[in-house]
Amino acid sequence: MDRHNPVILAALLHDIGKFGERTAEPLPVWAEPFHHEARYTHEPYSAVFVEEQLGRWPLDMTTVRRLVLKHHAPSLPDELLVSLADRLSAYERAEAEGDREGARGRAETALRTVFSRLLGVSADGARYHELADLSLDRRALFPRPDAVGSVESYRALWERFTSEVARVPLGDLRTLLAVLRRFTWVIPSDTRRDLIPDISLYHHLKTTAAIAACLVREELGEFDVRTLHDGLTNRWKKAPLTPREEELLHRPLCALVKGDISGTQDFLYLLTSRGAARGLRGRSFYLQLLTETIAEWILRQFQLHPTNVLFVGGGHFYLLLPYRAAAEHLDGIQQRIARVLWKIHKGDLSLLVASVPVAAIDFLEEEAGGNAFAAKWGDVSRRVNEEKQRKWQDLGQEGMRRELFISRQRGMTAEDTCQVCHNAGALEIQDDVRKCQHCRGFEELGRLLRDPTHLVLFTVPEAEPPEQADWRDALRAFGTEAWLIHEGDVLPRRPPGATEARVYTLDATDFLDEDTCRRFRWGDLPVSYDFRWLADATPRKHDEHGQEVIAEFADLAEASQGVKWLGVLRMDVDGLGDVFKNGLGAQATISRMSTLSESLRLFFEAWVPRLCREYNRFQQGKKDALYLIYAGGDDLFVVGAWSVLPELAERIRDDFRELVGGDHVTLSAGIAIEHPKFPLYQLAANARHALDDQAKEFQRSNGRAKDAVSFLQTAMGWEEFARIAGWKDALLQMLNPQGEEPALPRAFLMRLMEIHALYAGNRARWRRAQRLREITHEQMEELIHYDKWQWRLVYHLSRFAERHEQHRETIDRLLREIVQQDGFIARLRVLARWAELLTREG
Ligand SMILES: [Zn+2]
Ligand SMILES: [Zn+2]
Repeated sequence: MDRHNPVILAALLHDIGKFGERTAEPLPVWAEPFHHEARYTHEPYSAVFVEEQLGRWPLDMTTVRRLVLKHHAPSLPDELLVSLADRLSAYERAEAEGDREGARGRAETALRTVFSRLLGVSADGARYHELADLSLDRRALFPRPDAVGSVESYRALWERFTSEVARVPLGDLRTLLAVLRRFTWVIPSDTRRDLIPDISLYHHLKTTAAIAACLVREELGEFDVRTLHDGLTNRWKKAPLTPREEELLHRPLCALVKGDISGTQDFLYLLTSRGAARGLRGRSFYLQLLTETIAEWILRQFQLHPTNVLFVGGGHFYLLLPYRAAAEHLDGIQQRIARVLWKIHKGDLSLLVASVPVAAIDFLEEEAGGNAFAAKWGDVSRRVNEEKQRKWQDLGQEGMRRELFISRQRGMTAEDTCQVCHNAGALEIQDDVRKCQHCRGFEELGRLLRDPTHLVLFTVPEAEPPEQADWRDALRAFGTEAWLIHEGDVLPRRPPGATEARVYTLDATDFLDEDTCRRFRWGDLPVSYDFRWLADATPRKHDEHGQEVIAEFADLAEASQGVKWLGVLRMDVDGLGDVFKNGLGAQATISRMSTLSESLRLFFEAWVPRLCREYNRFQQGKKDALYLIYAGGDDLFVVGAWSVLPELAERIRDDFRELVGGDHVTLSAGIAIEHPKFPLYQLAANARHALDDQAKEFQRSNGRAKDAVSFLQTAMGWEEFARIAGWKDALLQMLNPQGEEPALPRAFLMRLMEIHALYAGNRARWRRAQRLREITHEQMEELIHYDKWQWRLVYHLSRFAERHEQHRETIDRLLREIVQQDGFIARLRVLARWAELLTREG
């Protein structure tokens, strides 16, 4: 009953009329009287939507219609609940003041991307989204300064939206949510003139439904609901509160729960090179699927809809749960997770869960006298990190704890362990390599991830994992059976005991087409439809039998220009916690947080893989260069031909900058490159070091930090990197000229490196002198700049210029750029080394 409470569906649809009314179609005559029951103009449109589109749903739709109609003028307790959820999701000023005029939907207003409303962004930095459904189209994803909405565009979108809604299986909230996500993600929730329209209608509706589901479960008495509602109103008006109102504002209503997978680094990269590449993609996808499966499983324990997943990605999830139920059951849930993962992964992987209580006051903007939701987001992350410190305490059973201290199965006699991951297990020889059931399973999963069109997840009875469990058993332990479907595949049978199926269309948003709905059916089993990104860019090659297989790391190295080396690129958003907490500042409501985190997710999970795939041209008879191991949340990890990575990093950064519309949210990168025999684990660690200890520590002379890339052990701001990259191209042109002109000898690069070494040596000496106070800081700067290197540089470069007349102009220009006051003498080694590696044979 709970799950189908009309309050939840009404909360999800309460403002859908804002979409409808912006089409400027008049209300049908029969609905005219609705105006008398509503406060603004959008509620009658919401009521008409419920009546016309969902009238056949097997729920109490009369109540749903009443609830959406009355959400700004509530009187009955259930009406008050919807109104409460609405206010907690995004409580805006005019609500309390009753700005009737302003609340009318204006079709011209476009959604301003939430990135461009963060603190420190000027008004002309504003970027708006084109009114379009969600797709991987550049025009749909990236905001622009000049995008505006129109009645026509609303009409076109509304027509497609309602025809999709008509296909939603009756009563299926999950599919309805997916349709809303596709069509309302860039519709501004509020278009009043004095507000910045930065909250997407989708995120407002979804979070309102999530809060409503918690409120329903809290079973507040009628009097308390009324008192809390009054308390919120008075808080807004800055009127005095009664003690009971005050108390209820601080009473926990929800629990914000965070789950975080730990151990992923070792799980992914602590593999031997024997066949590691084949299993890596499977491992990474499994981590993602496992995180999502556990999040869904927790929701099922509380009979909640997917509305209550605030975020999932990047190895963690945030859920909004009803407070009292969470307090009662979360320990048991945590223990089951720990026990199952222990049994399957023996400590290699674990998932930590922590929660913090959330009261009404925690949802409100500071302007509304609240605490702003972002603070809770930070709190729960801190709690999870504390949990990490005492990781195994929750296992509960003494036996397991003892097992932890018996030396891990690693490093026993070689014949007893897997040659890929060094664990014991059900070993079998495959392609001359001894592999455990995990590694075989992940390789199989990697193969299944080749061009799948759909992912089907059945909800099945939870099964205790067997002794030698693989990834399927892990998911089954949390009540999910997963199938990847390819074109022409026969559908899997309905598993025994299955209660529902979820069908995800992969990497496309047209997920409710007739074909999909007709094809994916299993008798009377309820089926939901949705879409998701696969975040995939996997390199391929033909093996000796002409079969298409995942390429090995050595193959990627072969695709490099110049020296055949391998590289790792890691990138992530700078100071993400601050972006959430300080960027949104006092306006950090749950709707905005949700909008912001989903935008980031879209960029990393959908756009980055698309960029990566452009470097894989196996289909066109060329070599694939990139292996995207992971992209999600706010970071990414790519292995690939070393020479491609700097360019890829720059493109990702440029697109990210376009997405956020400026330099107020930035991205940094770390690139590590090595011979392909170098262990991946070490290469991954080197890239981590380049990112965390170099790029993130980078500081410009004006004090601005981060927003940098570290390449060839040198951190540079992106602006400087672009300059070096430009000179790298110029050097390559001289070293390998296109036309008849003779090439500049590679000895030129050696000279540049020697000159840099001279510079670096002298610089260290003058710094020492400055530290000993033998010279002042100014003298030091002077001495460094006018040191021997300059004369040496001028001398050598002039000689090259004399001997290579056709390159003279370029060399002279290079010389001037290096020696000028903000010249790049300090980066000369990077430039020379980069060009040297690109022109080196083999
Ligand atoms: Zn409303
Ligand atoms: Zn193994």
